[in-house]
Amino acid sequence: MSARPKLGPADYLAGLQCERRLWLTRREPERAAGNVASVAAHLSRAGEIRRHAERLFPAADVVDEKGHAEAVERTRSLLGDERVSAILGAAFEHLSVEIVADVLERLPDGGWRLCQVTPSGRVSETDFDGIALALFALRGSGLHVPSAEIIHPDESYARGAAGIDWTAYFARRDVTADVEFLLEDVPGQVERFARLLDSPRRPDVEPSPHCRRPWACEFRAECLRGLPADWLDLLPGLRSSRFHALREDGIARISDIPGDFPLRPGQALARSAHRDGELALASDLGDMLAGFGPPSDYLDFEAIAPVVPIYAGTCPDQVIPFGWSLHRLTQDGELVHRDFLARGSCDPRREFAESLIACLAAVPRPIAVYSPFESRVLRDLALELADLAAPLERIRTRLRDLQPVVRDGIYHLEFRGSLSLKRVASALSPGFGYSDLRDVSDGGAAAETFERIARGELDAREEERARAALRAYCARDSEALAVTHLALRQLLERGRPERADRSR
Ligand code: SF4
Repeated sequence: MSARPKLGPADYLAGLQCERRLWLTRREPERAAGNVASVAAHLSRAGEIRRHAERLFPAADVVDEKGHAEAVERTRSLLGDERVSAILGAAFEHLSVEIVADVLERLPDGGWRLCQVTPSGRVSETDFDGIALALFALRGSGLHVPSAEIIHPDESYARGAAGIDWTAYFARRDVTADVEFLLEDVPGQVERFARLLDSPRRPDVEPSPHCRRPWACEFRAECLRGLPADWLDLLPGLRSSRFHALREDGIARISDIPGDFPLRPGQALARSAHRDGELALASDLGDMLAGFGPPSDYLDFEAIAPVVPIYAGTCPDQVIPFGWSLHRLTQDGELVHRDFLARGSCDPRREFAESLIACLAAVPRPIAVYSPFESRVLRDLALELADLAAPLERIRTRLRDLQPVVRDGIYHLEFRGSLSLKRVASALSPGFGYSDLRDVSDGGAAAETFERIARGELDAREEERARAALRAYCARDSEALAVTHLALRQLLERGRPERADRSR
């Protein structure tokens, strides 16, 4: 009989989200696409935070054997040594579960406390599930572990002028009660996942809202292959309960959703578009666009939220804007571009705010954005920079969010379930896109690139190239806004709304 496949924390959490995701992760990982780079960035950040957390245990012994079996052996010998007060990287195996405990701390009564490190200031249900699995493996190995803790960055900690005080940076939270009640389910889940991985057959699981929580699944494109182009789960904003209610009635396609099923205006437009096989517009799209100009400005911000603060006075995960890009539509229909990209070597917020005020103060025209993000950044800057609060607030009152207009006012078949600015602009303006942007082509890559500049990790040539890539990407985002607004206005002028949204 062959040995059962081993199960680690990442497998376990994947399985809790979706059996098929676990199976694909282990059996056909080459089919993953999409968020692979962001998962790698998350893992690298988690490793970095774990290494910093180890500073809290200067007297700890370290298990750093390469193979898991060797690490388990070394752990066993350290556990039996009464001089050992704490162990970093202790390894355990129980049934098919392989676990590495970030920190084990010896308790006065002879038992041990499990401490797992998480790289975010916000502790999540997923963290509890991971700790429950670790506790299952530790106790199953015969260790007395009455207590469990999460060590995480403290969001209220502000970096000092002299750097990070790691003792103050981390918070420790007892989560024993939070995970004890999850333990009951762990043996059953482990057994289920082990059987699943033993099977050569992919589990049949339909794409549904579960594919996006707690992570956007990297196998989404694979699972949508072969399904109808208007698969129900591609209806923007469809809640899980409504998805399942419709599936229980045998409905699989957006175009088959009954006319009396309650939908938001934009969802009803999507249904019309799929039924008619063409673009659908809301009859009140003109009203929705009334406050947007022209003349108009189109604005996009880029920001980082470093878990290890880079600048004195800033906190873990605090949003720090580092660049803005603005396209201005002049009276004669020309698009003019302005931008700002911080140097990175010092806190960019004041320079960011002053340059933005200088660019926008003179001409009080509407400013189109594509999320509430820009408004939140301006509000936070106004709180931080009291002397600039009034002009920043004035800019804030001029913001007009185009995203709700798109959500409720138009559906194009090429949106394919996504209302991201990238998808919308490309659909409404064929030929417009991001595919020529090589080094930075999404917000995550932009933040990562700027963080590397700010931390001084790039040499002069690399930095020059990175800055050019960042400016090109930011410019494309504000241009996408302009392209979207202008396309919507053109559709209005062509008189399409009259025949649209009959199902609303
Ligand atoms: S896309 Fe959805 S159904 Fe497919 S593996 Fe991922 S979570 Fe499961």
